[in-house]
Amino acid sequence: MDIAWAVAGAVAGAGAGAALRGAVFRFSVPPGDPDRRACTRCGAPLGRWLAARCGGCGAWLGRPGVLELVTAGVLALLLGRFAGEPAAPAFAFLGAIGVALAAIDAAAQRLPDRLTLPAVPVMIALLGLAAVLGHQAWPLARALLGGLALAGGLLLLGVLRPGQVGGGDVKLAGLVGLALGWLGWPVVAAGAALAFLLAGAAAVILLALRRVTLRGHLAFGPFLLGGALIGMLAMAGPGR
Ligand SMILES: [Zn+2]
Repeated sequence: MDIAWAVAGAVAGAGAGAALRGAVFRFSVPPGDPDRRACTRCGAPLGRWLAARCGGCGAWLGRPGVLELVTAGVLALLLGRFAGEPAAPAFAFLGAIGVALAAIDAAAQRLPDRLTLPAVPVMIALLGLAAVLGHQAWPLARALLGGLALAGGLLLLGVLRPGQVGGGDVKLAGLVGLALGWLGWPVVAAGAALAFLLAGAAAVILLALRRVTLRGHLAFGPFLLGGALIGMLAMAGPGR
């Protein structure tokens, strides 16, 4: 863990969390509903996309500080771990967008295409840049294959068990698979396995606490992202 890079990650993460706060607020509505366009407290129309507070009454859009703190923590871990590596910016980008997507999925059980889909070409471009800087093409090819493999795996699961996996999960798996694939096939396998383990453990705990029923739906996005994060931090070997 490189402390200077971790501190830089925390600062960048706090800024990224604040910048994504407006998007999380607008997209945190049930699937199919129109985006939020007004403050839930005073009803004033929302202003700029990057604004963290209502322009009318000054209320925070969403719970104050949580998004900033979590994004700062995730980026501190990722940049501290992958300090100075060509793929570090790509991982930081995924970390920031991932926290926003996890927050929306946890709140509203959806992963909006308007956040996930543009993130895919950005991620590919950042990894492409990393391949050029690191003079290695194979990790980039493996990243693309990893994205396809993870998205394909979830798509298959969605076909076999309809209702458990949504289209948003498949697209998010493609995005996450890019980062895991860059780091190697063991990381792809570990990230996927951890996602299902975490989701299973959460389901058992929530069932025991009677917070969900057997027929209830548990948002999978936060577990997919959490499993990927742990897999990346724990499994990526040195000297790639
Ligand atoms: Zn307001």
